Amino acid sequence: MAPLHSLISRFMRSLTMKFTVMTAFLMIATAALLMVIENSSDRQEHEAVLIERAGMQAQLLAMNVSEDIIADDIDRLQARISRFTERADINEAFIADARRQMLVHSNTADPVHSSLATDPLVVMALGSGETRFEIRDDVVHVAAPIYSSAGRLTGVVHTQSPMDELVAAGREALKRHMLTAVVAMLILLPLAAALVYFSLRPIGQLTNAARTASSKSLDVRLNVKTGDELEVLANAFNRMLSRIDSNLKRIHRLAYVDMITELPNRERFRKEVERVTRKAVEEDTTGAVMFLDLDRFKRVNDSLGIGEGDRLLEMVARRLREIARGFDLSKGTQGEPSMVARLGGDEFTLLVPHIESSAEMARFAQQIINAVSRPFDVSGHQVFLGISVGVAVFPQDGAEPESLLRHADLAMAHAKDSGGNAMHFFEQSMNESAFERLVLENELRDAVKNDQLTLFYQPKVRMNDGVIAGSEALVRWNHPTSGLLAPGHFIEAAEESGLIGEIGDWVLREACQQAAAWASEGLILPAAVNVSAMQFERPGFADNVLETLEQTGLPPELLEIELTESIAMRDPQRVIDQVQPLRNRGVKFAIDDFGTGHSSLSYLTRMPFDVFKIDQSFVRSMSQDPHSRAVVDTILALAKALKLKTVAEGVETSEQLAALREEGATLAQGYLFSKPVPAEDFESYARASLEDDVAAASA
Ligand code: C2E
Ligand code: MG
Ligand code: MG
Repeated sequence: MAPLHSLISRFMRSLTMKFTVMTAFLMIATAALLMVIENSSDRQEHEAVLIERAGMQAQLLAMNVSEDIIADDIDRLQARISRFTERADINEAFIADARRQMLVHSNTADPVHSSLATDPLVVMALGSGETRFEIRDDVVHVAAPIYSSAGRLTGVVHTQSPMDELVAAGREALKRHMLTAVVAMLILLPLAAALVYFSLRPIGQLTNAARTASSKSLDVRLNVKTGDELEVLANAFNRMLSRIDSNLKRIHRLAYVDMITELPNRERFRKEVERVTRKAVEEDTTGAVMFLDLDRFKRVNDSLGIGEGDRLLEMVARRLREIARGFDLSKGTQGEPSMVARLGGDEFTLLVPHIESSAEMARFAQQIINAVSRPFDVSGHQVFLGISVGVAVFPQDGAEPESLLRHADLAMAHAKDSGGNAMHFFEQSMNESAFERLVLENELRDAVKNDQLTLFYQPKVRMNDGVIAGSEALVRWNHPTSGLLAPGHFIEAAEESGLIGEIGDWVLREACQQAAAWASEGLILPAAVNVSAMQFERPGFADNVLETLEQTGLPPELLEIELTESIAMRDPQRVIDQVQPLRNRGVKFAIDDFGTGHSSLSYLTRMPFDVFKIDQSFVRSMSQDPHSRAVVDTILALAKALKLKTVAEGVETSEQLAALREEGATLAQGYLFSKPVPAEDFESYARASLEDDVAAASA
């Protein structure tokens, strides 16, 4: 049973089959119904003929026997009835008189007087005086009244005529009909099947197309011209497929293409590196991943605006692509082409599937650097950029996209550190220092949270009499295992991890609080605070300083902000904008490590500063190195011309002090007076210094 069921259900899975079977079923049912109708109407017709014939025969007999009844001639009657029933279409007959007394019966040789004819037909015929019919078991029973010539009812004739002929004819007709039906089926069923097949063929096409679309390709289109719903369906299907197709392409673009430059994005690049490195490992070949980071892009982007910045990125992308294409062409047709991608921001990457030597890579990188160094024309402005390139070679520097990118990125950072517009190959030692940096950053995060930071203060003294004139707050990190760490160990990490914002805010608040506390106890000394580039360039820097001053109660004149020369020169206009509102309130500004940068003098004279802090490297070497001495002289002369104060940093010996005093520096700061010390020690130092001063004055 089960196999039959599964066979049927498999069979019925085809629509054509289903419809063909249904059509066949309907045709057979229709033929059967027609046959039934035809047969029954045939039978009715036949019956009517038979009844009429039987009636006429009975009536004829009735007319013939009327005289014999009146004469009571039983023998003649008997003879007549015997003759009558000899006919093939009469079974039996009998004659009764008007009182239903049987006179003769065809089945009995002897007359059958006295028995009463009980047949209800006989009763009805005698009662009504008319011929009566009835069919019982395929036999026509007729009762015809017998009238004398005078019209008196004298008896009744009863006949039985079999309907064999009719049944035989019916059977014959049925056979004929069935034969006709079978022949018709044999001709019509294949026709119907073909019709169904052709009508449903578009559905088959649709099914196949849907199957292909779902498993292989969306590149299928249907051509159905039936003019009916199937055509509508096929057209809708075609439209649906092309929409899915274009949506998929869009999704692919969004997922794998960088919208600004039209270059492959990070994900696409990662996948390609994965594929290429796997192949390189299998085929034992060498390739490279380059990490490219634009120099100065942020500044250009800020001054041009986002839209122009995007255009600039587009131009850079175009140049990179051209250089890469040139490189591919120079290598001939063999091998896969290189891929340029944009990771985001001003970071690009380049995958070179196959390289011959690191010298080849170095030359390629240099071409890129040269190409990006040429000026860009952005809306009529000439823009100069640089690019730092890091190269990681696979498989030796890593065989996974992540490690390769990380290594190329580290190498790029080294190129950037060495001043930018340069290339650097990855070296294993970079990885180690990067790991240390990572640990450091995590620890620094905890340091901020766990109050491990503290401030030391170093006095600044008047050059002429050594009396204290102010302090510089210098941050220290009380590291749980390494002890007290100087800023050189962590400020860079703080800047790169973004933690400098938090640290800077804390230093500013702490220094202001301390200076305000001292001022309230009579120790009125200006406090200098170092501010890093990132901290200074954050929007709202000036507001933040003013808010801190207000909250700590430190008069603005007692705060001095130290910016390194490199910050001051990065974006002079921005510096002026940030500094001016604070200077207007009385806050002082100093250029720290002055002399180490490459400031243009014309800019410097326009910068709103109050103090130059001469870098300790010049102070240290001025006695032996005439060049250093010349630099110090120039700075002091410049300060005098601009009416600025000067602080000489790193004064360690009385000779240095004497020389600086001679040159006319205003203040000195250095180990000769005091190292940076905790707040309490600084306070003792300052009070002692002021007391000495008072004593000296009164003496
Ligand atoms: P700086 O602002 O130029 O600070 C002076 C540095 O010179 C201090 O180093 C100080 O200890 C050192 N110094 C002072 N006198 C002498 C001397 O006679 N001989 C020698 N050899 N060194 C002397 P420190 O504290 O290690 O700070 C280093 C740098 O870290 C600072 O240079 C400053 O640029 C930065 N820094 C310090 N504290 C902070 C801070 O709170 N925020 C930021 N952003 N930077 C800070
Ligand atoms: Mg400083
Ligand atoms: Mg300094």
